[in-house]
Amino acid sequence: MNNNYINKVENTLTLARVKNWQKPKLNESQKFSIIEKIKKKLKSNNAVLVCHFYVDGIIQDLALSTGGVVSDSLEMARFGRDCSQKKIIVAGVRFMGETAKILSPEKKIFMPSFEATCSLDIGCPQNEFNNFCDEHPERTVIVYANTSAAVKARSDWTVTSSCALDIVKHLKEKKIPLIFAPDKHLGSYITKKTGADILNWDGHCVVHDEFKSFELKNLKEKMPDAKVLVHPESPDVVVELADFVGSTSQLLNFSIHSSSNRFIIATDNGLIHAMRKKSPNKSFFEAPTAGNGATCKSCAHCPWMEMNDLNGILSALENSTGEIFVPEEIATKAMVAINKMLDFTK
Ligand code: SF4
Repeated sequence: MNNNYINKVENTLTLARVKNWQKPKLNESQKFSIIEKIKKKLKSNNAVLVCHFYVDGIIQDLALSTGGVVSDSLEMARFGRDCSQKKIIVAGVRFMGETAKILSPEKKIFMPSFEATCSLDIGCPQNEFNNFCDEHPERTVIVYANTSAAVKARSDWTVTSSCALDIVKHLKEKKIPLIFAPDKHLGSYITKKTGADILNWDGHCVVHDEFKSFELKNLKEKMPDAKVLVHPESPDVVVELADFVGSTSQLLNFSIHSSSNRFIIATDNGLIHAMRKKSPNKSFFEAPTAGNGATCKSCAHCPWMEMNDLNGILSALENSTGEIFVPEEIATKAMVAINKMLDFTK
């Protein structure tokens, strides 16, 4: 990533942190009152709450108790497309709302925070990415779901971390050379696992990039019985220490079915909420994010996912704030790449 994008990520991160600090602190009775209002509004609006594993646990619980879903971005996309409701509140980050809109143009899609973005999305601007692809016309273009609709529109395939390996293996069997964007760590993991011919874009996730291998090794030595579960957006040296590598839903499933009782988790700590709910008798520990004496930028929690809150959800339902639109020409092209993934993983 060049300095322009590093600065843009830093500025956007600062904005997210400030907004998160400014959020009103709700006491338990205020939370209860807003949750009751949201439940009523979801019903009267025939709306549904679709949320990612990384958002606040209280929002995850609310989605599950009102007939919505908590999942990874692949299942969020599928659920949003297949549900009967015509109004969807997407609690996550911008590209998730865009994907929901692309797949269901007739539905109204709202987000609790319009400004919730993603460092991978910021680090892969449309024009630079188009130029990069134009320089390698012989390569099939695969983009991770964590990109803008415009970048997806330039791609041949969209993938998520739960299906990226299978799709790349499928293309490798056909001896197709590839471009993979934007996450360099996931790209490197896929390249190693499949041996495919891949040109990787140089982006990273501010959360996963910060997991530290030295400290993780130390923690592992202190807890030799604990299984280390790592998301492949983490650096290679962290992935190498894993007992299991996978997407959020794959990590969750591993923790449910494993005979182990202790786990060290190298992904956003929002997932630990779902893990604890599914396995209340097991113990979960965050993988270390900061080197000796250093400070972390995200501390294992995405500041943009943190922007989703109860007030934002209520405002979307009461005042129609945060509605997502995607220009038709972009949506039509992006839908082709997203549908390839949905058909492949059916
Ligand atoms: S956790 Fe990382 S990949 Fe996910 S939304 Fe935040 S910055 Fe993007």
